[in-house]
Amino acid sequence: MPAGYVRGRHRYVMVFGTVMSGLGKGIFASSLAKLLKDKGLTVAPIKLEGYLNLDSGTLSPYRHGEVFVLDDGLETDMDLGTYERLLDQDLTRQNYATAGRIFQEVLNKERAGDYLGRDVQMIPHVTGSVKHMLRSLAVETGADVVFIEVGGTVGDYENAFYIEALRQLAFEEGPSSASMVALTYVIEPPALGEQKTKAAQLGLKKLLEAGVQPHIVATRSAEPLTDPAREKIAMFSGVPVANVFSMHDRESIYTIPEDLHEIGLDTEVLTRLRLLDRVSVEKEEAARARWQRFVGKLKGERRFSLKLGLTGKYAALRDAYASVDKAIEHVGARLSCDIDVDWLDTTTFEPDEAAGRLAEMDAVIVPGGFGQRGTESKIGCVRHCRESGTPYLGICLGFQMAVIEHARHVAGLPGAGSSELSPGCEDKVVDILPEQKAIEGLGGNMRLGGQSVLVQPDTLAAFLYRVREQDGGGVKGGGPHEPFTVRERFRHRYEVDPAYIQRLEAAGLVFSGRHPVQPIMQVLELPPAQHPFFLAGQFHPELTSRPLRPQPMFMGLIAAAIRRKHPDAASDPGVARWSRASPARTPA
Ligand code: GLN
Repeated sequence: MPAGYVRGRHRYVMVFGTVMSGLGKGIFASSLAKLLKDKGLTVAPIKLEGYLNLDSGTLSPYRHGEVFVLDDGLETDMDLGTYERLLDQDLTRQNYATAGRIFQEVLNKERAGDYLGRDVQMIPHVTGSVKHMLRSLAVETGADVVFIEVGGTVGDYENAFYIEALRQLAFEEGPSSASMVALTYVIEPPALGEQKTKAAQLGLKKLLEAGVQPHIVATRSAEPLTDPAREKIAMFSGVPVANVFSMHDRESIYTIPEDLHEIGLDTEVLTRLRLLDRVSVEKEEAARARWQRFVGKLKGERRFSLKLGLTGKYAALRDAYASVDKAIEHVGARLSCDIDVDWLDTTTFEPDEAAGRLAEMDAVIVPGGFGQRGTESKIGCVRHCRESGTPYLGICLGFQMAVIEHARHVAGLPGAGSSELSPGCEDKVVDILPEQKAIEGLGGNMRLGGQSVLVQPDTLAAFLYRVREQDGGGVKGGGPHEPFTVRERFRHRYEVDPAYIQRLEAAGLVFSGRHPVQPIMQVLELPPAQHPFFLAGQFHPELTSRPLRPQPMFMGLIAAAIRRKHPDAASDPGVARWSRASPARTPA
């Protein structure tokens, strides 16, 4: 037991997946956790991954979706993003574990002689280490409820020790300490035209075989679960019909919390866990009203519409840019704008074709990325945006693309490039971090996690972060015309070579956000006289966008694009608030 652990104080909701992976366990768990948090309870989610990697840093976004970086620098799975967004809560490395990390800890202890001559086994040592980790999370966060999501599917080799550890934990903690939730999949073969539950039954049976009796079953399916299917699932899993929740496909995951609440699953869990006395009705009402307003805006008629071009090597895979996608969704709801995202694979066109490809776009985002493929055409996209006055937001690699584009076409350095993308180029305006030049190898030398950004006064960046400040902080220090700091999350190896800063600035590029002490450029922009909205960050602004607190750079991009496309929109309070008047607003 970790120091200070009091049995009975903390409760556990354990979420398992059956039949197949990718069912949205994280979405279910975070929606339920949100409902409890809104009632005033403290919640702590954790995702238990079965794979042996120590973190998600070396995983391909192609196969696994985006790498979500936490403020403390841990590279995690995109599910952590879902938790942060739905709970509006920053998470840490305590909220994420992989089998690799757990084994590494056990093996380190073995080498240190901590097992006192015993043989080291999956049970009790590895399972014990899992239980200890979960209880530590409970004590250290003071959680009323720890939400545990087991990665993969029940029946996999690699997560079996987690399931056993959870079974033991629930037993040791006592009867009302845990609520087990099973997700499952109900198929509807087009040829039959009805929902078939056999696969779900078999999957749930696997969980029962592992000694876990679910308390709640959530079913995934294209259409809402039918009554006969619900009854069958209830019968064969031993779960009351009322506790079988249909998590069918929806337009937005943000409606799931309300749907769970409507059928009373939040109360069911609280009753089971004997936590009803910790609920604050007042807090719940206020939080629900705020959320309902957001969902209302999300579903409601949109006043404006625009087309957004999003470039990316993984353009075919939305998951690779999940947080960017979500940030756009948050802004669309807030500004009542229907944003039609056009994913552009820059490997399919030449740099000089960019203008043609982007002709219809009202705004463009070049998001993060690694490697050389498609980058010349991304630079072509940036050039088009700069020259045509199309609102542009660059993220990480998109920031570097903007630096290179400016160096080549404005600052008179035609041979400008980056040491990552064109190692032989004449002017490496983007180069490996000076302090990291000595370090080699993958995974270890990235600049990761939350860092301060010193924002220069009277810039576009300052304007946007000041607007957000009125919505609830995030800004430290500084009077109206003084610099101030904000915090953003990074994941990069390369940066602007300080030797070129003066030359780029002389050519009109404004570095409006820097590292507070080191010469690391973190935000760039063009002045309003030259461009209505041209802004880029070396960090990943999408990682901190939350449904009720959209990220200001995204807000600025869309507000500027709306204003440029719909000239009468300047009278719209949201658009007016988030955009500046710009002499360069009308396209040349
Ligand atoms: N490849 C670039 C770097 O490592 C950008 C990284 C990113 O976009 N996340 O600096």
